Amino acid sequence: LFGCISSGNRDDKFPVYKDKNAPIESRVRDLMGKMTLDEKIYQLMQVAFGKNMTVNNLGGEMDQIPPEIGSLIYVNQDPIVRNALQKRAVEESRLGIPILFANDIIHGFKTIYPISLGQACSWNPEIVKQACTVAAKESRSSGIDWTFSPMVDVARDPRWGRVAEGYGEDPYTNAVFSIASVQGYQGDDLADENSIAACLKHYVGYGASEGGRDYVYTEISKQTLWDTYLPPFEAGVNAGAATIMSGFHDISGVPASANHYTLTAVLKEKWGFNGFVVSDWNSIKQLKSQGVAGSDSEAALKSITAGVDMDMADGLYLGNLAELIKDGSLPIERLDDAVRRVLRLKFQLALFDRPYVVEASEEERYLLAEYLSIAERLAEESSVLLKNEHKTLPISKNVALAIIGPMAKEQESLLGSWSAHGEAEDVISIYEAMKQEFPESKITYAKGCDFEGIDKTGFSEALNVARKVEVVILCLGEKKSWSGENASRSTISLPEIQEDLLLELSKLDKPIVLLLSNGRPLALGAIEPNCQAIVEMWQPGVVGGTPVAGIISGRINPSGKLAMTFPFSTGQIPIYYNMRQQGRPRSGKYQDITNKPLYEFTHGLTYTSFKYGDLKANKDTIQKSEKLVVEIPIANMGDRDGAETAHWFVTDPVSSISRPVKELKYFEKKNIKVGEVTVFRFEIDPMRDLSYVDETGTRILESGEYYISVKNKKLKITVVD
Ligand code: BGC
Repeated sequence: LFGCISSGNRDDKFPVYKDKNAPIESRVRDLMGKMTLDEKIYQLMQVAFGKNMTVNNLGGEMDQIPPEIGSLIYVNQDPIVRNALQKRAVEESRLGIPILFANDIIHGFKTIYPISLGQACSWNPEIVKQACTVAAKESRSSGIDWTFSPMVDVARDPRWGRVAEGYGEDPYTNAVFSIASVQGYQGDDLADENSIAACLKHYVGYGASEGGRDYVYTEISKQTLWDTYLPPFEAGVNAGAATIMSGFHDISGVPASANHYTLTAVLKEKWGFNGFVVSDWNSIKQLKSQGVAGSDSEAALKSITAGVDMDMADGLYLGNLAELIKDGSLPIERLDDAVRRVLRLKFQLALFDRPYVVEASEEERYLLAEYLSIAERLAEESSVLLKNEHKTLPISKNVALAIIGPMAKEQESLLGSWSAHGEAEDVISIYEAMKQEFPESKITYAKGCDFEGIDKTGFSEALNVARKVEVVILCLGEKKSWSGENASRSTISLPEIQEDLLLELSKLDKPIVLLLSNGRPLALGAIEPNCQAIVEMWQPGVVGGTPVAGIISGRINPSGKLAMTFPFSTGQIPIYYNMRQQGRPRSGKYQDITNKPLYEFTHGLTYTSFKYGDLKANKDTIQKSEKLVVEIPIANMGDRDGAETAHWFVTDPVSSISRPVKELKYFEKKNIKVGEVTVFRFEIDPMRDLSYVDETGTRILESGEYYISVKNKKLKITVVD
């Protein structure tokens, strides 16, 4: 893979690019002027290397990697290993260009917090930002400069395993959390010791993979691209995201990693993105199997010409770009532009000035008390109380409980996919957490069954245990490997064995509290009537069962709400709240089941009771350039303090093109004390909130009537020219 570096002349001792007081653009220019073609091409190459390197075997293996390499992925995350590799780059390459170290830090490095889909259900971007800051600190102190996160692919098919990695079905929600994560990872300044570079992925439309299958094509009209899939990326770019990853999929026939329209015309030219684009793993090589390139060389040419700057893993840039430049098919300007973008980030991260990281001990770096408390709060706020018939929950402290189910003693599955360096042994199981939460209760346990399979021999023990208690806590869901990359499911109900366990237990006539841990919405239509309460805890990360145990005891008042619709059954997919208006809204029903989801977007219960007052606007008619303030008082009428999220939707009933039934434009979460009334406000900027984008990305604001709604309150406003 690695050829020889042609040697250039040694330059003066203090070149501009090494002067930390010189402006970044001057440093980039100076360095570019000194680089040979081969050195430039190396900067565009990322290789997987050094996973097994340890402090004790730094030597030999290192020689396999040229010190000129641009970036490494999957290096063993030990500051000593990073420093050793970096030392070679800085001291043994001709120009001393530091390496950019990358990894997938998706929901925490060691302090694993809930999966992104769970995070979105917290509706609390501030705490998500804090969690990303924790991830950045743990990463940077372990030698990682760059994470492949956040994933901001709007996803409307829960069969797709990667719905776990994003923020649900809504473009605005994804946009808000895109900004929060970028800010959390990157901090105020990428040069800070605790900042890492973010990467928005997978640009763009990967969530539309047909049938929820991974790695396949998508069919996305330009209208939908602009309406649904681009907004979270645009928001992340505007928030300063350093990098973007191009996806594996194709976008209506043009692969995302060879798509000049999305990568160059939109991202770099229209949005002015200054960072760089990295391909997804082997996605340049895959242009061949996608049927748009006949050779490695053609794949490399298509990709770089479309706008992919760095090649992740497949080596095609390294093997082909020099030849493509020499034979004139690739203009040197495009290659230089790509290199400039990569170098710029290295300067922004202060890698030239501070190439090494402090070699602190693991105890100083990981799982600090303040990190864990942020992870715990996020997991508490991410949990969603889906059902609570007859106030089954909370349960008083001395009630006898049976904890049943394959999830009860699980540790690993509670971490969720992409759990970086999270370790199962650090995770508190639901069973352990319940014992701590209910010290006065008699607690018994039975597994009942495995996650899947047909062995029902454990049912009788589960029934025996359940017979002797007052409440059954049934812990079901999905194993860690059932969601994430390449983990699609054709049916998203619980496996039959788990459903059967619930149905058997429900015959005992005891209240059943169903605790669910999973990486996607589940279709619970067949079993929901058989339990009295349901808590969706998602995959909460290292704090495991503690937050959900707190919800069961009432120590925590649940405040999470769904960021993705729970269908009644798999056959309803795709089902999401912001579908377009239809010609016969009252007809067109399934013959066998309802058309309605089981739990809709933003559904989530609380132990207190919030009453929404009248929705008011400061004007009922506005000009296109005028702002409008709408507000609604929300009262806490229950008997405990709680937090409520107001979701503000807009409907455009008559437009030049058919618009969604409603679209989320703003949300806010606030604490409301018992007996208090809090006013929630939304300042509407018509051009931002009432307009739509056409298929060229141009915003259009039409005069006419609009509806603003919050929960079941609705208000009409009129926009005039
Ligand atoms: C995934 C990306 C990930 C990359 C590097 C790919 O298979 O699609 O999301 O960042 O691998 O690990």
